[in-house]
Amino acid sequence: MATTPPPGQVSPEGRAHAAPSPVLGSRLCPVCLTNPLQGEQTACSPACRRKRGRDRLAERQQLRDQEVLALLEHAERLEGRVAETRAQARQHLSASRP
Ligand SMILES: [Zn+2]
Repeated sequence: MATTPPPGQVSPEGRAHAAPSPVLGSRLCPVCLTNPLQGEQTACSPACRRKRGRDRLAERQQLRDQEVLALLEHAERLEGRVAETRAQARQHLSASRP
């Protein structure tokens, strides 16, 4: 049971996801995380650029959805208050009547 692996031997798990050492001055494409970017590039290839554009669009749509949802919730709260106020006003009216 107590068998220790000989020194110098690397287990298969050991080399999993070894991050490539970053080269000075070069960045990796944020989309595929594989290809280095050149110059002012923000994506390594048109495909990656398109994918990033879609991601950004989805992100924007999600933000807008959240905004709309927040507005809806606000409107619902206001409606609730209006109903409450209306009920109170009605109560007040019926109470002041003989
Ligand atoms: Zn890429």
